[in-house]
Amino acid sequence: MRTPFHARIFTVLPELFPGVLGASVPGRALAQGLWTCDVVDIRAFGQGKHRQVDDTPFGGGPGMVLRADVVAAALDAPRSVEMSGNWPRVYASPRGKLFTQSMAREWAEAGGVELLCGRFEGVDERVLDTRNIQEVSLGDYVLFGGEVAAQAMLEATLRLLPGVLGEMASLHEESFVNGLLEHPHYTRPAVWEGMQVPPVLTSGHHGRIATWRKNEAERLTKTRRPDLWKFYVDQQLAGQEGDDV
Ligand code: SAH
Repeated sequence: MRTPFHARIFTVLPELFPGVLGASVPGRALAQGLWTCDVVDIRAFGQGKHRQVDDTPFGGGPGMVLRADVVAAALDAPRSVEMSGNWPRVYASPRGKLFTQSMAREWAEAGGVELLCGRFEGVDERVLDTRNIQEVSLGDYVLFGGEVAAQAMLEATLRLLPGVLGEMASLHEESFVNGLLEHPHYTRPAVWEGMQVPPVLTSGHHGRIATWRKNEAERLTKTRRPDLWKFYVDQQLAGQEGDDV
């Protein structure tokens, strides 16, 4: 059997895991041992009787900051599954590089990931500097904590693991995979509230269906995501130039 993908999460709210990843397809994959979820409670490394994990920011200002010594102790503690050198070590952070489908693919191929979830105002910068941590953001907005971000990033990654999604074919046509958003989907009833599904889809003609889907994917990408569309067109042009040589 294949080595399971290993997710190691550092959080002050361990009860939030596996969270959404414990249900449906990722939950079944977890039960089948296709991936493992090792949750490290940062509070277990807290200071004193109250296991304090945070303190007020130097320089003043509102909120609390997760202490460097506490977070580092959690990160450095020995584990039953050793961290592989390839695994990304990530701090979920709005200041980070935006999480993308290609990052999910890299993580899936690495075989594991470590995810540090912040709370309050965040983590003392010195931990990030000394523990080889990359910051990755879920999007340009601020959450209460990194737990939902970590679960979203993991969810995208787990879908790409061999054996997790039954039909691997569905992965090839999805949004972002070939640089385009996905085409629209339709199912029964064929007529609903007076609206018929596009006739080509019930024609049984695979070639025409494929062309229709590609055209729709291009139309949607062009109108909704000009940034992706520009990248796609540039890639196509580069490909054509490559062919000429
Ligand atoms: N003061 C910080 C935000 C703290 S929010 C700032 O302005 O950058 C508290 C925690 O939530 C962060 O430490 C981070 O782990 C998590 N978080 C918030 N927004 C996030 C996002 N867009 N992506 C990933 N993690 C996020």
